[in-house]
Amino acid sequence: SDQAKVRADERSRIAFEEAKQYIPGGVNSPVRAFKSVGITPIYIERGEGSRVYDIDGNSFIDYVGSWGPLIMGHAHPKVIGALQEVVVKGTSFGAPTLIETEMAKLVCERVPSIDIVRMVNSGTEATMSAIRLARGYTGRSKILKFEGSYHGHADSLLIKAGSGVATLGLPDSPGVPEGVASNTITVPYNDLESVQLAFEKFGEEIAAVIVEPVAGNMGVVPPQPGFLEGLRKVTKEQGSLLIFDEVMTGFRVGLHSAQGRFGVTPDLTCLGKVIGGGLPVGAYGGRRDIMEQMAPSGPVYQAGTLSGNPLAMTAGYTTLKLLTPEVYDRLEQLASRLQAGFERNAKETGIPVTINRIGSMVCPFFTDRQVVNYDTAKQSNLDHFRRYFAGMINHRVSVAPSQYEGMFVSGVHTDEDIDATIEANYYALKQL
Ligand code: PMP
Repeated sequence: SDQAKVRADERSRIAFEEAKQYIPGGVNSPVRAFKSVGITPIYIERGEGSRVYDIDGNSFIDYVGSWGPLIMGHAHPKVIGALQEVVVKGTSFGAPTLIETEMAKLVCERVPSIDIVRMVNSGTEATMSAIRLARGYTGRSKILKFEGSYHGHADSLLIKAGSGVATLGLPDSPGVPEGVASNTITVPYNDLESVQLAFEKFGEEIAAVIVEPVAGNMGVVPPQPGFLEGLRKVTKEQGSLLIFDEVMTGFRVGLHSAQGRFGVTPDLTCLGKVIGGGLPVGAYGGRRDIMEQMAPSGPVYQAGTLSGNPLAMTAGYTTLKLLTPEVYDRLEQLASRLQAGFERNAKETGIPVTINRIGSMVCPFFTDRQVVNYDTAKQSNLDHFRRYFAGMINHRVSVAPSQYEGMFVSGVHTDEDIDATIEANYYALKQL
């Protein structure tokens, strides 16, 4: 029916009020506060498969998936089982364990550019370390990134960033010293000409180009044909490194990640999200001669008390082992069904919507224009998005509370989940 059931939210309201007394903004990561959509955040009690359950007794079909990691859904029995087996042996040693090598081997086998890989604890650490390595290796200072891309919150990468900082309108955060900011060059995504111009001006100084091979922090924006190839060519010619930030796309858009899907091999790759299976993990890896510049084999320093943590490695390894070619076929099937349904709904309701999708990453933009970069993403009608989001929540579908984030379909969503989501989308559009 188009009458969404009234949603109880009293417990979540009380919980949020109390949290605000002890945690800045009530949350440990800004987007969780639902600030830009003006709704009280939903406090989660548990997740199972394609659903999350809140403390007020509501259940939602979930497309946030912890912002990407849960490609096989919440509390997957294999992942939980593996964790239960290892947790009783201890949680952290700060000494090598066998699972770290197993995990590294698997990542090296699956990701074309990675000969050798270092585990860290978040995507932020991965990109920050890869940038330090690129600077150490090339002896150059500047980096080039794309407007609306998000690479974590390291100082040098919080310039014209996407994701939560775009949502909150804080793309150049206070607290980043000018000296650091001046070493970051930003150009529009999918714009090779601007990249060329930047290299003409600063070529000898650019240590690396860092790029999301599918931009996932300004909604979902796939690379146009030739874009990634062009980046590969110009970086090679100019002696600078090409870094793929595959924190979101790694093992999300294919068994061999975005680089496998597009056939472009970077020098360094950053991973996170899926490779942690829902525990805190990041990784960076790539060409052996570059990676061996890291301590202790080389002079560039990076370390971590909890890096390679046995629980995190177990959750990640078990998740990666679940990811077969059949899972990616299924993801493609489910997500294209979702896209087709959303497109049908937009037509029927007459609401201008453009849907970008690649594999299981899907984003309805509230505009009838093509979205190819941050400027075109920003043409979306944010008032429509806000009301649409409220409609989806009222129909018990959980999507990210921002126009600048995509939906993540998981391998455990069912056809019924997808159809229920298409129906929710219809009523959410209709009420606009
Ligand atoms: N890079 C990309 C492409 C991301 O999407 C994110 C997180 N959304 C990060 C880096 C940062 O990862 P984390 O939040 O684990 O620090």
